[in-house]
Amino acid sequence: MQNDTQTYDLIFVGGGASTSLILFQLKKRNLLDELSVLIVDAELKTRSDKTFCFWAEEESRMAKELDFLIKHSWSSIVDSHGEIKELRPHKYHHIDSLDLYNFVRKIEGDSHIDRLNVKVDTVSCDDQGPYILANEKFFRGKTIFDSRTPVFKKTSKVQKHLYQSFIGWVIETEKDLPESDSFRLMDFDIEQNGFTQFMYVLPFSKNKALIEVTRFGNEPIETTGAEALLQGYANKNFGDFKIVSHEVGCIPMSNFEIERNNDSGIFPIGANGGQIKPSTGYAFKNMYEQSLTIADCLENGALPLQIPPQKNKPKRFAFYDSILLTILGSKPEKGKSIFLALFQKNETKMVLKFLDEKTTIWEEVLLFSRLPLVPFLSALIQLFFHSRSFRPTMLIVICSILFLLGNHTAAQDILGYGLLLVGFVTVGIPHGAIDHLIESGNWELKGIAKFSLNYISKALLMMFLWILSPQVALLFFLLFSSWHFGQTDGKNWRFSNLTSFLWGASVLIFILGTHTKETAAILSAIDSHFFKLALPFWSLFPWFIVALLTKRTSFVLTLVWLLLSSQLPLILAFGIYFVGQHSLSSWSHSSEYLKLSNKSMWMHSLPFHIGAWALLAITMVLNTFFIQTTDAEVWGIFFIFIACISFPHVIWMHKLYSRNSN
Ligand SMILES: Cc1cc2nc3c(=O)[nH]c(=O)nc-3n(C[C@H](O)[C@H](O)[C@H](O)COP(=O)(O)OP(=O)(O)OC[C@H]3O[C@@H](n4cnc5c(N)ncnc54)[C@H](O)[C@@H]3O)c2cc1C
Repeated sequence: MQNDTQTYDLIFVGGGASTSLILFQLKKRNLLDELSVLIVDAELKTRSDKTFCFWAEEESRMAKELDFLIKHSWSSIVDSHGEIKELRPHKYHHIDSLDLYNFVRKIEGDSHIDRLNVKVDTVSCDDQGPYILANEKFFRGKTIFDSRTPVFKKTSKVQKHLYQSFIGWVIETEKDLPESDSFRLMDFDIEQNGFTQFMYVLPFSKNKALIEVTRFGNEPIETTGAEALLQGYANKNFGDFKIVSHEVGCIPMSNFEIERNNDSGIFPIGANGGQIKPSTGYAFKNMYEQSLTIADCLENGALPLQIPPQKNKPKRFAFYDSILLTILGSKPEKGKSIFLALFQKNETKMVLKFLDEKTTIWEEVLLFSRLPLVPFLSALIQLFFHSRSFRPTMLIVICSILFLLGNHTAAQDILGYGLLLVGFVTVGIPHGAIDHLIESGNWELKGIAKFSLNYISKALLMMFLWILSPQVALLFFLLFSSWHFGQTDGKNWRFSNLTSFLWGASVLIFILGTHTKETAAILSAIDSHFFKLALPFWSLFPWFIVALLTKRTSFVLTLVWLLLSSQLPLILAFGIYFVGQHSLSSWSHSSEYLKLSNKSMWMHSLPFHIGAWALLAITMVLNTFFIQTTDAEVWGIFFIFIACISFPHVIWMHKLYSRNSN
């Protein structure tokens, strides 16, 4: 690091809306006199690029504080039937982005604020604290606010990333506008073309208005189509007009995770700080709230700043956002009827309260009851199908059916072992037969001989251990299986290494310990007699407390089916865990890492998959004919076989998880 590095109290990476709102708060509280500040933005911010609008109660702090910037306010809205509805106690306000940027320019003059018009390449932290690298120069900041464009990352199949794209004209009309005191939020009286699209109209005077065609969808709106819609709409509603200026924009409507720099002293703000509400694209109000939190912290705390997480909004609103994104993403043509019903059948005041995430559950029930049911139900089913809770719920159903069929009945055997066989063929064995892909990332015939030799030698090592000392081998098997099972489940629930291991050991011991007789019979067949542990079904209860305290629904459901499985025969209980929980999770982690489809991974697994079945068949045939006879003995040999082939697999999966965490 250079010695002449300049240090600031605060560095703002990006000088847009979120930065401006924070600086406004700091100025208002006279905090800027004490602080050295650097703003770095490649854009000069000398033109009006955005029309910021928000609704706020007339007496609210936001409306009062930002009053000097507010250019227009509307106290009524025109609905889709042309009816004018009062917004009271709210007003809809408009701030021109240039007025906000100019305000910041003005305070730059009388505070210790430096500005640099370059792109920031790096925002990071070393042992001396946070720093930025811009145009090959280092700057240190005791605290850095980062408002660069967010980088979204998909972390679950249910997440959606849509665009709210719009193209607008400010027009001057020859005739007076039909209603110049009221605005139109969503006028669906335009072609939908298979999307959810509408007109947004903000009248600025009797013959001047912003008209904007907006699309919520998987693809942004294209200029030619949008301009045709604007032209048609303006002619139809306002007669002759001339275009004064343009506004083009695209706001992410996303419930993807935003990649974060978690270093201390670096805070993402604005869109990068997750302030855009996914289902509406509005962010200004949230950014104002964030600016208050930050200014409070600066007023009361020393640098480097400690900013508490923003006041927890109820999680259900994120869920509602996800439902709407699911509908808009998969059935965009349904958007029109939903939004029409939302505004038509509910009081506007209530809709705004809902969008502000301030409604009670009862108010939400009433509001939803007035919306079309089918798209919501189908989105709910889609979300559930892809949610973490789906699989454990299915396992609860399977365990319950097997339990009701009665232990060791023909029906239970056919269904239970039939399902296990299907599970072993589709994912149980294949999940361990793709380790060659984890090693090299793709199917390379060249390295396969070396890999196979390496793999088989590790399996043989394990087999020698069984021959040398079955008890040591069993203990080793239990230990590495606990590690491996824990590692796979732990990734789902974001456990630490220690918690993962404890969980893996608990599950394994629980399954064996709730089937003491069967476990003892199998172990005695493989010459190990030390497992005498008998566990009651409630021995998993401490984990229930963990699951409830950490609010992990899928974990709670997993514990429920594990409890049920303790009442089934050992092979079924273990098989359901191995296939239904462990192999499926491991498979999806591998597919995420390898970025391959299920089909492609399964095809790639075939050589080792077939090899594993062949080896198993040879082992079982040899043992059945020449050495062993009883069922327990056959299962004993099966477990030794599993231990041998799983030992190298555990090593390769550990490599995958370590690479992932790095
Ligand atoms: C056209 C438009 C209209 C909108 N209207 C509304 C509205 O009416 N109401 C509402 O609630 N929300 C609205 N939004 C959403 C949201 O309020 C805005 O996107 C808002 O500008 C987000 O503020 P921000 O500070 O996060 O980002 P910005 O205001 O975009 O500021 C980020 C700044 O970072 C700079 N930057 C990016 N990368 C770098 C880098 N590597 N180095 C240096 N600088 C960098 C950019 O040049 C930019 O100036 C609108 C969005 C758009 C696009």
